Amino acid sequence: MDDFIIIGSGIAGHHAASELCRKAPSHNVQVVGAELGRPYDRPPLSKEYLLAAEPVHPELRPSEIYGSTVALRDGLSTTSIDRQNRTVTLADGSQVHYDKLLLATGSRLRQLHLPHVDPRRIFYLRTLEDAQRLRRALCESPRVAILGGGFIGLEVAAAARVRGCTVRVLERAPLLLSRAATPKLSEFARALHIKRGVEVLVDLEAGEIFEESGEIILRWPGGELRSDILVVGIGVVPNSELASQCGLATADGILVDQQCRTSDGAIFAAGEVTNYPIGRHGLRARTESWSSASAQGAVAAKNMMGQDRCFNELPWFWSDQYDINIQCIGLPTKASRFLQVGDLNSNSWLQVGIDDAGHVIGAEGVNRGRDISALRRAGRSGQSIPAALVEQLIRIEPVNR
Ligand code: NDP
Repeated sequence: MDDFIIIGSGIAGHHAASELCRKAPSHNVQVVGAELGRPYDRPPLSKEYLLAAEPVHPELRPSEIYGSTVALRDGLSTTSIDRQNRTVTLADGSQVHYDKLLLATGSRLRQLHLPHVDPRRIFYLRTLEDAQRLRRALCESPRVAILGGGFIGLEVAAAARVRGCTVRVLERAPLLLSRAATPKLSEFARALHIKRGVEVLVDLEAGEIFEESGEIILRWPGGELRSDILVVGIGVVPNSELASQCGLATADGILVDQQCRTSDGAIFAAGEVTNYPIGRHGLRARTESWSSASAQGAVAAKNMMGQDRCFNELPWFWSDQYDINIQCIGLPTKASRFLQVGDLNSNSWLQVGIDDAGHVIGAEGVNRGRDISALRRAGRSGQSIPAALVEQLIRIEPVNR
């Protein structure tokens, strides 16, 4: 009977645990997670959870594996890994042996040091508890200042507007969604939020943030804004320290191959903490994609059981803001040209990014879920999609080139 240890109870850890549970029920599978409770799903937390009259617990299925086939050691972080003796040490001092170890440690939020603001007025969004707290605050329809115009910032902005709050987004980059989106999608998002009444301030960084007479004041040279609460969504940092401390190769995340193997054959890694080869493009990246994390978790589990599976799905993610569904697949920001479908000024368009070799490298769509799904299915084989195939994969409509 092998000892399979999974560190991290997020989406990658959960998918690995369920796969091990299905395929190797007689083995000893343990999930060690720093958060209390069973794993849950995060995407709803910045979307429907904030809006629902009675939010539903975002349970991850199957949840009954915990406590039966899989031992969940929740509320417990891992402090070190001893690769020679194949043990991990946990925060309570206990040591656990592994035959195969999976690092699914995810990432943590970047934090701001804000000593001059009452912490009760500051909100981050990562955990279920964060979402419960923010939802309660938004119900009171306050003036909301949001630092960061990434997906967290914009999804919270949309939920806050729908709840009737006054919303201002302050982004230090010149464009919204600057890390993940092309300028076209950034511009679309900006126009969308302005239309819905959000004040969007870009290329600005608040040099001073403090509280005065019950208000939060964000000040920058030549301007300021006042709010009741502050939501901070300024990105994440991969939790790769455990890996680097035990000598595994890391570079903006834990370096893994397509089989989710680290530089130690007994240790695998999956999810947001990994820096992995993307498709057949010869590129490597750390992505913050729910679908990649879950699929990588399952691939890692299979390989921990001795199989030889490759993870070659393109990263895919979606965002719901008001009545708009945005989806991105692959790495559209790396494209050298685009095939465009639909009017880019409308609420239904798609742009497919093509690389120098004439293959699809990524795509972005607004209310174009079916087209993105078609590209996603085609990309699953791990083969590059030639540009000439795009029109067969998506609904044929007027194409502006
Ligand atoms: P992002 O990295 O996407 O965006 C953060 C933005 O904040 C960046 O543009 C960053 O600019 C900017 N920023 C940093 N510091 C400041 C500052 N002091 N003032 C103003 N702006 C600042 O991260 P998010 O926080 O939006 O998202 C966090 C995580 O949650 C990610 O893993 C994301 O993928 C995930 N998520 C995914 C969603 C989805 O897929 N739909 C939805 C919600 C969250 P710069 O680059 O210059 O630092």
